[in-house]
Amino acid sequence: MRSVSSIADAVADAATTFSGQFLEPTDAGYEEARRVHNGLVDKRPALIARCCGVADVVDAVNLTRKLGLEVAVRGGGHNVAGRATVDGGLVIDLTLMKGIHVDPKNRTVRAQGGVTWAELNRETQLHGLAVTGGVVSSTGIAGLTLGGGVGWLVVRPPVLAFATGHGRLAAMAVVGAAGVGILCLYLVVFAMSPIE
Ligand SMILES: Cc1cc2nc3c(=O)[nH]c(=O)nc-3n(C[C@H](O)[C@H](O)[C@H](O)COP(=O)(O)OP(=O)(O)OC[C@H]3O[C@@H](n4cnc5c(N)ncnc54)[C@H](O)[C@@H]3O)c2cc1C
Repeated sequence: MRSVSSIADAVADAATTFSGQFLEPTDAGYEEARRVHNGLVDKRPALIARCCGVADVVDAVNLTRKLGLEVAVRGGGHNVAGRATVDGGLVIDLTLMKGIHVDPKNRTVRAQGGVTWAELNRETQLHGLAVTGGVVSSTGIAGLTLGGGVGWLVVRPPVLAFATGHGRLAAMAVVGAAGVGILCLYLVVFAMSPIE
C-alpha cells in the first residue's frame, strides 16, 4: 500500500489542473462520498477523485498509474456488490458529471457518466421522447448501460441505429488506461422513441 505522504504529494501535484475534488479519508465529505447504494458495502478507498469533466478523468487515470493503486469507477453507485468502490484504492467518481444534451431532431441524447435515469428522463421528456432505461430512477445510466438491461420501455421495439444487444446504446466514448486495465465511459449516446 502507498504511504499517506506519497498520495498527498501526488494529489497536491494533480490538484494544479484537476477541477473536481480529491477526498482522502480525513477530509470532510469523504464518509458520504465513499458510501454506495448497498449499505452493507463498507469499503474505504485511499482516495476519491470526484471528476467534473473528461480532463479530470484523464488526470485521475494518470494518478492511479503514478500511485499504482487499484481503481474503481463510480457511476450511480448501485452495483449491489459495491464494484463502484475499492478498499485502499482510488475511486474515479463521476457523480458530478451531469451533462445531458438532447438532440430532438435526430432523436438522440448524449449524457455523461454521472447521470441517473431520473435526470436523463427529465430532459428527454421535455421533447416528448424516451429511451429504454432502468425501472428505479436513482440508478446510474453508466453502470446500467454497461451491464443492466431492464427498463420501462423494454417491451417496445428497439429504435437504435447501432445493434448493441441492449437496444438503446448508440455510441460511447471512452478514456482508456491500459496500464491499470480500466475503461472509463464518459459519454453515452442513446437513441429515443416518442412517448405515446
Ligand atoms: C435499486 C436498484 C434498482 C435497479 N434497477 C434496475 C433496472 O431497473 N434495470 C436494470 O437493468 N438494472 C437495474 N439495477 C441493476 C443496475 O443496472 C446495475 O447495478 C448497474 O450496474 C448500476 O449502475 P450504476 O451506474 O448505478 O452503478 P455503479 O455501481 O456506479 O457501477 C456499476 C459497475 O459499472 C462500472 N461503471 C460505472 N460507470 C462506469 C463508467 N463510466 N466507465 C466504466 N465503468 C463504469 C462500475 O465500476 C461498476 O463495476 C438496479 C440496481 C439497484 C440496486
